[in-house]
Amino acid sequence: MNIESDFKPRGVNVSREESRFLKEKGLKWCPRCRTAKDLSIFVRKGAKRVMDYCGECRDTETILKAVFRTEKFKASVKLRLKLQGLSGFKPSGNRISIYEASILAELGCKWCPYCFKAVRFEQFRALKSERFSICKKCNPIRDAAYKAINNGKITKYNQSEERRASVKAYKNDPKNRVKRNLLKRNAYRTNPLIKFRLRLSEATRRLCNNKAGKDTLNIMGVNSVEHFISLMSVKTDNPNWFRDGYHLDHIWQFNWFSEFLLKNVENDHNLSLALPVIHGHKNLRPLSSTENCQRPKNDFLPLNLDDLPLYEPYLNSDIKQKIHCYFKSLSERPRSKNSK
Ligand SMILES: [Zn+2]
Ligand SMILES: [Zn+2]
Repeated sequence: MNIESDFKPRGVNVSREESRFLKEKGLKWCPRCRTAKDLSIFVRKGAKRVMDYCGECRDTETILKAVFRTEKFKASVKLRLKLQGLSGFKPSGNRISIYEASILAELGCKWCPYCFKAVRFEQFRALKSERFSICKKCNPIRDAAYKAINNGKITKYNQSEERRASVKAYKNDPKNRVKRNLLKRNAYRTNPLIKFRLRLSEATRRLCNNKAGKDTLNIMGVNSVEHFISLMSVKTDNPNWFRDGYHLDHIWQFNWFSEFLLKNVENDHNLSLALPVIHGHKNLRPLSSTENCQRPKNDFLPLNLDDLPLYEPYLNSDIKQKIHCYFKSLSERPRSKNSK
């Protein structure tokens, strides 16, 4: 008879005699799984003490306890949710725990550690699985706060060779180019301002390639490419601007007219009046790409007071006010000098 597998006590539990008999064979009875097992299984690692139950039974007990604890915790989270509501919910610790996150996920929400609120999944840019990402509303706030502290560092990094090389590599990656084109096409369909902008720059390109139709020539107010180039050449110091790939900058900036353009997307009559003003040769000048990209949003320096009546009817209201203030301050400056 194989004692280890076949041993059964006579009573409900092993008697003192039976236990002594097992011990002589190097075995011990486990009252939980009700089998006789090798004595060594009863010795806990670290503590050199013979335990009452076998190792396997002790392991299952620990797992059961842990399960019980998490179930208890989950129940407490659900209770808190019920009492505080989703809007008042706070995690029990400093951070959201896995269990709390899983319960919020069942409700279609995720914890934003920045605004300290449960926020719906749609309000996150990152994947649902990223536990500590912050919501779309908080993202710009955090970025601005970071920038305020580390601004110098960021510009230094952006101008470094390393950063430029990585940007270039990203731009040239065909995968990203496909993505970019898709975004562009989507923006063209959904954002009327971007549509206007792309169509106008397309008009310029057609003109410069000598493929301009009557409409393009009308909008830009010129007779031919040669006419256009001669008009532009007066406004720059670089005689080779065309060959050097200069940008064509809107002196009265395109964005200043956004309100009018958005309001009149469907109004062909109003557009036929405004577009020749906004995109006419008078409002264009050649500018090197760096100069053009560095031009501030509200840069009024190149503006001419005499042009104001021409552009004023199409300007956004806030810009109109700022430009009036700008010209007013210009006219006051020399007078204050004279009075001194
Ligand atoms: Zn056991
Ligand atoms: Zn947030």
